[in-house]
Amino acid sequence: AKRAGGSTYAFFESSMEQDARNQLEIQHDLRSAIERSELELYYQPKIDGKSGQITGAEALIRWHHPKRGLVMPGIFIPVAERFGLIGALGNWVLEESCRQLREWLDQGLRMRVAVNLSVHQLRQEDLVQRIRRSVESHRIDASLLTFEITESVAMEDTQATMKAFAQLAHLGSTVSIDDFGTGYSSLAYLRKLPARQLKIDRSFVMDLDTSTDALAVVDAVIKLAHALGLRVVAEGVETARQRDILLSLNCDELQGYFFAKPMSAAKLTLWAMVDDK
Ligand code: C2E
Ligand code: CA
Ligand code: CA
Ligand code: CA
Repeated sequence: AKRAGGSTYAFFESSMEQDARNQLEIQHDLRSAIERSELELYYQPKIDGKSGQITGAEALIRWHHPKRGLVMPGIFIPVAERFGLIGALGNWVLEESCRQLREWLDQGLRMRVAVNLSVHQLRQEDLVQRIRRSVESHRIDASLLTFEITESVAMEDTQATMKAFAQLAHLGSTVSIDDFGTGYSSLAYLRKLPARQLKIDRSFVMDLDTSTDALAVVDAVIKLAHALGLRVVAEGVETARQRDILLSLNCDELQGYFFAKPMSAAKLTLWAMVDDK
């Protein structure tokens, strides 16, 4: 038993070493990824529940690593956060979203883009100024942007959140509480936040067609959000049944693989034009 424990420990240790080396390698490569144009934004459509039309798209970052291939944000965002690279990454995402919005406008497509903000960005003193600069330099309207902030981030630093939310709303952008249901925000706090949108976390949507508990929770969240004047988006919709249930519960917008996976800007352009009747 002793030997088995020892070998388990050795294995654990070596995989941790491997992990650490991996992280170092990732952060090293990530430092030059922006300059080398290895980053790309993918876009996942959001669909209006009533009309079935696209209302906008969420920007989701991807990394084309020269050796590893396509790297997902779940791998490199935590590394970027740990090694102080998340600021540069967030700035790039913001600038690229605005550039793409301008390109779409020039193509006659009035798209809206939702950008994910990290806790680091929320605490940046010059966040709103930076957004204003990007918006102005690309001659777009701030109302074309939505900022998604996870419920847990919003809870982590309530003071910074309140301030940033108010400033973003003042700018004319939509503020959205992402991954709702995974944090522990109170009703009192939710009421005070100048958010306009709430995104129900995928974990609830996933269980909708099998669990009556999940259904009751989603029903209650939608009613609560509507009572507070918030629009509700469901993320991670994968089946027709989940869609039907969400529509019967008056969910305003839907997003998920059932409609479309995140795709390149060029693909989204085609997708939106075909969808636009
Ligand atoms: P998120 O903001 O909750 O984004 C939704 C994630 O769910 C995306 O994963 C999306 O591809 C995935 N997804 C969408 N529909 C479905 C579905 O029907 N089924 C399933 N199983 N998954 C679905 P992705 O692109 O890997 O992004 C993961 C997370 O990385 C995001 O979660 C977000 O927190 C973070 N992230 C992505 N891009 C950025 C960014 O530009 N900045 C920041 N700060 N974070 C980002
Ligand atoms: Ca999001
Ligand atoms: Ca989300
Ligand atoms: Ca989520």
